Amino acid sequence: MSKIETICVQGGYKPGNGEPRQVPIIQSTTFKYDTSEAMAKLFDLEASGYFYTRLQNPTNDYVAQKICELEGGSAGMLTSSGQAANFYAIFNIAGCGDHIVASSTIYGGTYNLFSVTMKRMGIEFTFVKPDCTDEELEKAFRPNTKAVFGETIANPAIVVFDIERFAKAAHAHGVPLVVDNTFATPINCRPFEWGADIVTHSTTKYMDGHGAGVGGAIIDSGKFDWTKYPDKFPGLCTPDESYHGVTYTERFGLGGAFITKATAQLMRDFGSIQSPQNAYILNLGLESLAVRVERHCSNALKMAQFLKSHKNVEWVTYPNLEGDKGYQLAKKYLPGGSCGVLSFGVKGGRKAAEEVMKHLKVIAIETHVADARSCCLHPASATHRQMNDQELANAGVSPELIRLSVGIENVDDLIADVKQALDSLDK
Ligand SMILES: *Cc1c(COP(=O)(O)O)cnc(C)c1O
Repeated sequence: MSKIETICVQGGYKPGNGEPRQVPIIQSTTFKYDTSEAMAKLFDLEASGYFYTRLQNPTNDYVAQKICELEGGSAGMLTSSGQAANFYAIFNIAGCGDHIVASSTIYGGTYNLFSVTMKRMGIEFTFVKPDCTDEELEKAFRPNTKAVFGETIANPAIVVFDIERFAKAAHAHGVPLVVDNTFATPINCRPFEWGADIVTHSTTKYMDGHGAGVGGAIIDSGKFDWTKYPDKFPGLCTPDESYHGVTYTERFGLGGAFITKATAQLMRDFGSIQSPQNAYILNLGLESLAVRVERHCSNALKMAQFLKSHKNVEWVTYPNLEGDKGYQLAKKYLPGGSCGVLSFGVKGGRKAAEEVMKHLKVIAIETHVADARSCCLHPASATHRQMNDQELANAGVSPELIRLSVGIENVDDLIADVKQALDSLDK
């Protein structure tokens, strides 16, 4: 099998003789057939092919296939955003009356999706701290629990998720572990190798990497055996009446059932498809992913070391920094580097943090991370402002926390910018 850098460049789309070298953008809503019978086979899921881009599009499938190869999965799909990816991944196996165990240190948007919107759909979530005791974790499960969810590296708390431990707990209860691998990317961590069953991505972040296109992806490992728990996962193990009685696990096997169901039901009904144009842009980003991630990580480590040495900085969180509370987990799951995002607290609390932000010149204030351009954010007054103090604390966000997404510029320029901003507090 090819190494990861090669998959970044050459995975997915495999042109035949005389075909375009670069992934073609199939900018077409629909596809033509010679007979009604041929199309009927597609509608019955008896043949694979394309009929309407709300469900599937070839450009998207080429790119999904590349991400699937990067993660070492069995099947994958693109979605219009990371939010859609996490929603589909959970809703594909949980409905009204079901329950999910999730790490409390997750992205603010995902926390809202789970605790507000999906709760309104009748799905209950129990949030556990990623460093909870075994007893606390065990107590979180219920007979109607359908999945466990966490982020490899939490956004914005930068806490490393103990994938193997949570996978074991999930499997002991007969449910899959879903891991949002947005920040680590498969360059730094491949959650399937540690027991995760489903991986999601906001491709908006490092995978695109240029702040150009919002998107998401879901990849299935194909390893979770739904058929061992048919009562828990009737949607995968019993006939789907909305698809002429197809039983996904029987027809598509363990490797294809999850993604086929998510495409045939959820994409059909909710329609959060990625545009083929965006998928093309995403693929350009994927080509350089391995090279960029390496630079993001080396820049971020140097920045973290600099911040740690500055007298106006109270604390720095970066898992590859020796002494960091995530250092041991990072050594296990992220030995080659974690990501370009770090967080730090300025001495003087919320006011001092806002003051430092004002003085930055090279690093821009943005609600974004994982971009080639460095940017920063004060979550307590932006992404996490809907949360009260207790929820903020549970999410690992304190009022003085600045999230800094270190880009791929020359690190000396970035450090000089942060230095003058921090020094301005002395004036
Ligand atoms: C940004 C982000 C999301 C949401 O993705 P969108 O593409 O913005 O919808 C989900 N999870 C994580 C970890 C993220 O960083």
